[in-house]
Amino acid sequence: MAASSIVFLGPPNSGKGTQAARLASRLGIPAISTGEMLRGAVAAGSELGDRVKDVMNQGLLVSDELMAEVIEDRLGQADAESGFLLDGYPRTLPQVATLDSIMERRGSAIDHVVLIDVPQKVLEARAHKRFIELGRKDDRPEVVIERLEQYRIKTEPLVNHYRERGLLREIDGDQSMEAVEAAIAEAVGA
Ligand code: AMP
Repeated sequence: MAASSIVFLGPPNSGKGTQAARLASRLGIPAISTGEMLRGAVAAGSELGDRVKDVMNQGLLVSDELMAEVIEDRLGQADAESGFLLDGYPRTLPQVATLDSIMERRGSAIDHVVLIDVPQKVLEARAHKRFIELGRKDDRPEVVIERLEQYRIKTEPLVNHYRERGLLREIDGDQSMEAVEAAIAEAVGA
């Protein structure tokens, strides 16, 4: 059986990154985090890094055009040939269209879209805790608020879109990490 192609959706601080990595290793497919790729580019001081640094520091989204280049390039690599897990892409409706056309060219399709659902109050509490503990630059309160706002305006419409296509697997993210992991595995038949 061909490996799955899976998309993870969820607001910042939903635990999405951790769960994406766990499921990908369970399935033996690469976990592709666009946020990590971009942070890596910034840290390396590459041309891509220079282009995205300011936008990222403000909690805003990188342009769909630039992200299309990033994702085309990454999905074209050998390790993603038979399946992959996307963490952080797509984040806008135009990005959904880009991904659809990539999949069409591959003669394939997305199998599951996993949504990690966490109440707003819990997200805020988690962000606050992380800010105190790590002092991460993009965890400054005003940036956290902006990232949540971007999620609500630009990414949340994807939830209904994928629900209508019958691909959405909704997971209660307000449980222990182990319980969330088990629920996801069951939802995608892993
Ligand atoms: P993340 O770690 O997924 O929250 O991503 C960190 C930051 O990278 C985001 O706040 C955006 O600035 C940028 N980013 C990552 N993925 C995308 C994407 N698919 N579209 C636009 N910007 C993105």
